[in-house]
Amino acid sequence: MKKILLPHQFYFPYLDIARERATHEKLNEFAISLGKSAPRKSLIYVHLPFCNSECSFCGFDKAYDLAQLSRYIDALKSEIDHYAGKPYVLGLEISGIHIGGGTPSLLPEDILGDLIDNVRNRFRADHVPLNIECSPVTLHDGMIGLLKEKKISRVSVGVQTFDPVLRRHLNILSSLDDTLEALTHLKRAGIITYVDIMYGFPDLGTGNPLETVESDVNKAIALGVDGVDFSQYYPFHNPLAQRISKQGLPFPTSEDLVKVILAATSVLESSGYVQATEYLFCNKGEILLEKAYFGESDCIAVGSGSLGLINGYKYRNKRYAQYLKSEVPAILSLRKLTEDELQRIPIVGFPRLLRLPKNILSEQMKERYGDKLRELIDMRMLEETSDSFVLTNKGKAFINNIYFMMMEEAEQKEIERQLKILRLQ
Ligand code: SF4
Repeated sequence: MKKILLPHQFYFPYLDIARERATHEKLNEFAISLGKSAPRKSLIYVHLPFCNSECSFCGFDKAYDLAQLSRYIDALKSEIDHYAGKPYVLGLEISGIHIGGGTPSLLPEDILGDLIDNVRNRFRADHVPLNIECSPVTLHDGMIGLLKEKKISRVSVGVQTFDPVLRRHLNILSSLDDTLEALTHLKRAGIITYVDIMYGFPDLGTGNPLETVESDVNKAIALGVDGVDFSQYYPFHNPLAQRISKQGLPFPTSEDLVKVILAATSVLESSGYVQATEYLFCNKGEILLEKAYFGESDCIAVGSGSLGLINGYKYRNKRYAQYLKSEVPAILSLRKLTEDELQRIPIVGFPRLLRLPKNILSEQMKERYGDKLRELIDMRMLEETSDSFVLTNKGKAFINNIYFMMMEEAEQKEIERQLKILRLQ
């Protein structure tokens, strides 16, 4: 089997930004649905798009100008107030908070500290885990002091690679010294720290990619990090993707990537890290975002471009420039998911969490997915245990293929039409 790559930001079921615009009627229906309480769980996702880097592998919607920061924070707080006061939300059990971006740690400490307090207070979520994404260049003593004072549960630091030549190609702003210093300070402060390591770049003439990845993972382990976010570069809507097509840079083959994944998995697991999701290996810390996106809870997402799911309504917020001008809620696309889609979120998305618990399969779903699960077992991608279907090591190297295979044919066609699915050689 050859690997396919799906865009990172694709989460089943697909929300069509252009066709599923939030109309006045849909927004109204959504607001009415939040008038009644429900005994569910939810994650709070807060998006801070500000960033001072232009990493060439990154395709996130970013804002480089902090001049609009106070306007953005005001809009964000209005959105927080909007959801926090709804009866449906008041009845939710908040399982955690994730602050992502962009670079949340780029904010001045007093503004970030105040925002953290605001989110915790408004959602009555003082004692839940709170994870935050940071860049090494922003992790000076004052910021580390704030993270400690606010009892942040986990900090994710964007490293990508420790190879200085590859870092230059990727246009990473933080120097290697900044990065090592930030990681050392976080460790000294006793803050649970994960690092992002990225693989699967095109051939940039920087040496053997398998050796680079093994060395990156070994360096992260030697630094004593608590987790590694080991994710695949996806060539779409980023400067490196343009360079690939302009210069015809060779992209790794399916076989190359499988070797890299298996080698990194083996190094991490033999050093005591447990693979918790498709890309997270850890020995401490809470897995929040991934579980919410794959059906364990709702996700109240606030901030520009963020993707949420509340009471069966999936939505995407407006991008930064429109978000600043919008009334609350600043929703661009919105769809009430069908009961069938809601039931299938954890089933279709199971490869990203590595296992499918049998107790979430109704009799009807067992019948519907029986052939696919048997096929995966025959292909040695999946193993059946007494309570679950669990990905094998081979299956873990083909997660996107399995994820795609779990969708209905019409859904697969729609994704082929709307998104770029990369089929590797
Ligand atoms: S990877 Fe992070 S630091 Fe780099 S440009 Fe993207 S958001 Fe900014």
